[in-house]
Amino acid sequence: MSEKAQYDVVIVGGGIAGMIAANRAAQLNLRAVVLEQGSAEKYLCNTRYTGGTFHICLREIMLDEEILRQKIVETTAGFVKPALAQLMAREGRRVVRWLQEEGIRFMRASASEYHKWVLAPPGRSRPGLDWEGRGGDVLLRTLETRLIARKGELVRGARAKSLLVESGRCVGVIAERSGEETSYRGRAVIIADGGFQGDAELVARYISKHPERLKQRGAGTGCGDGLRMATALGGALVGTDRFYGHMLSQTALTNDNLWPYPYLDSLVTAGIVVDAAGQRFVDEGRGGVYVTNAVARLDDPLGTFVIFDSAIWEKAGRNGLIPANPHLEREGAAMHRADTIEALAKAAKLPVEALSKTISAYNEALSTGKLQTAITPQRLSSRYEACAIVKAPFYAVPACAGITNTMGGISVNEHAQVLRADDTVIDGLYAAGAAAGGLEGGPEIGYVGGLAKGGVTGLVSAEHIAANIGQPA
Ligand SMILES: Cc1cc2nc3c(=O)[nH]c(=O)nc-3n(C[C@H](O)[C@H](O)[C@H](O)COP(=O)(O)OP(=O)(O)OC[C@H]3O[C@@H](n4cnc5c(N)ncnc54)[C@H](O)[C@@H]3O)c2cc1C
Repeated sequence: MSEKAQYDVVIVGGGIAGMIAANRAAQLNLRAVVLEQGSAEKYLCNTRYTGGTFHICLREIMLDEEILRQKIVETTAGFVKPALAQLMAREGRRVVRWLQEEGIRFMRASASEYHKWVLAPPGRSRPGLDWEGRGGDVLLRTLETRLIARKGELVRGARAKSLLVESGRCVGVIAERSGEETSYRGRAVIIADGGFQGDAELVARYISKHPERLKQRGAGTGCGDGLRMATALGGALVGTDRFYGHMLSQTALTNDNLWPYPYLDSLVTAGIVVDAAGQRFVDEGRGGVYVTNAVARLDDPLGTFVIFDSAIWEKAGRNGLIPANPHLEREGAAMHRADTIEALAKAAKLPVEALSKTISAYNEALSTGKLQTAITPQRLSSRYEACAIVKAPFYAVPACAGITNTMGGISVNEHAQVLRADDTVIDGLYAAGAAAGGLEGGPEIGYVGGLAKGGVTGLVSAEHIAANIGQPA
């Protein structure tokens, strides 16, 4: 095994979290190396694919700190660690300012508050992947150029396999590169490998019995290496059963024009979702991310249909920058359409009686104001308008759960230091970005924001290392 020169900080993963951490460390006179498993010039990762909106819980990232903190607590129904809620609310805006100083441009992508801080240039509002030359791609290339100018390193094709430990302190990483093992020694290690959604075994353990029946709605490059390395050292895990994702047409499994956009969430929250037995199984009113998690947990995630009528198709179906209507049909998504519920059930091969009963019960509960008492599961209507399914033609779209990235992961504190189950710190070990847990998820499967999370944990991990490791190497 060869050994590489001593670094101050060794970073696993070259997404937003890793590249911000490396640059911030280098700015603070630390010698930083990023180990990236991808070997392509434009190695794929979720940051490369990102839609580019810097937000916190879908609110503007620059809002008052206390408003954002409360929003995080509310969105995660109190699951969030208080110190992490405070951290995100305080530091999110600094990430945007810091990136601007690095030469990253932001723009407003629509009139909505959510779209106020979007990486430029934005995607072109078309279905399918569209990342080349777009915000996430530009961000990574800009941060790489800055890192090299600061004498930092980005090593492509290096997959971290295990951590080096001396006297209980993490002092480096062993990585495999071109079939050879190399050890990269440093005073601290930051795991920023993007989560574990790409690893079928871990997804099966925590999220779905059928990982192969989910659609990777991202690069799928987060394979849980960081999670395994951290737990091998005694690191605790938190909230690993939740993920960020959206409902997709089932045709997305074979048709690349149907992911990551358009997604079906606005049809889901206006209409209903049923399983292969024609029964509702989830409160659609809790939102697309919540429903997507519930679908993944089904015995048969691919038995799912989104049901709605032509009024929903014409209204909610047109919501969003890349709406389901007209893109689903235009891109060839499977869709059943019929003038009666009976004919719809037959076309979709759903049990006629069960589907008819489900829809009648839902319509009845809606018209009598009993969505929360007369049907099971109940249906919230405070966040999204629940709409009647009454106007022909009726639609059934075979759907699947699209998994973008895991929400839970390695337990960290407000400096992004990795914690043991008793909340003591593992010296020298940090986790940033989608690899870190404790911020998102909980009973409401609260989504806080992947870019903000990566940016904040990237910055603060580097700053904590700079302040605590003594003299740079
Ligand atoms: C289509 C899409 C749209 C999105 N839109 C938004 C949005 O608008 N706003 C928002 O906030 N979030 C959005 N997200 C989520 C956000 O992009 C991610 O949460 C964020 O980019 C994650 O950053 P990261 O650095 O943690 O992980 P990544 O960007 O995935 O980077 C992790 C890197 O680690 C590397 N790696 C993994 N294992 C190893 C190993 N063992 N050794 C070395 N390297 C390794 C991977 O190859 C990868 O390059 C979107 C995601 C997708 C896919």
